Amino acid sequence: MSDPNCIFCKIVAGQIPSRKVYEDDDILAFHDINPAAPVHFLIVPKLHLVNLYDADMKHQALLGKMLGMVGQLAREQGLNDGFRVVVNNGRVGRQEVYHLHVHVMGGPEPVSSGSRSG
Ligand code: AMP
Ligand code: ZN
Repeated sequence: MSDPNCIFCKIVAGQIPSRKVYEDDDILAFHDINPAAPVHFLIVPKLHLVNLYDADMKHQALLGKMLGMVGQLAREQGLNDGFRVVVNNGRVGRQEVYHLHVHVMGGPEPVSSGSRSG
């Protein structure tokens, strides 16, 4: 399922360009347009899930793949000295784009320990 009004569904469909990091049948990873760290990319399921409230154990394999790919993709992007992983959910979680995504942030400089939002 995709949501015609969802920006990340449009990126998945190739209707909006992105700087691709990785793609397979289930997930897409691309660089964040407004990076909060020297390297900042997002991993999204191709399936339109709003956030983790919208996911359950039916999505175990998909969620597992999203996290299971992080280490390899981080290394490929040059993150060899650590990185942060953030998933924002809902209003209090400061979610801006309502299509589930995993932020992966790192780089040569120390990454702030505060929230990346705001
Ligand atoms: P969140 O607050 O977790 O919903 O963050 C959404 C993220 O999506 C932000 O870091 C934005 O910079 C990023 N973003 C929004 N539009 C695009 C886009 N067209 N391409 C890449 N990243 C985007
Ligand atoms: Zn979507």
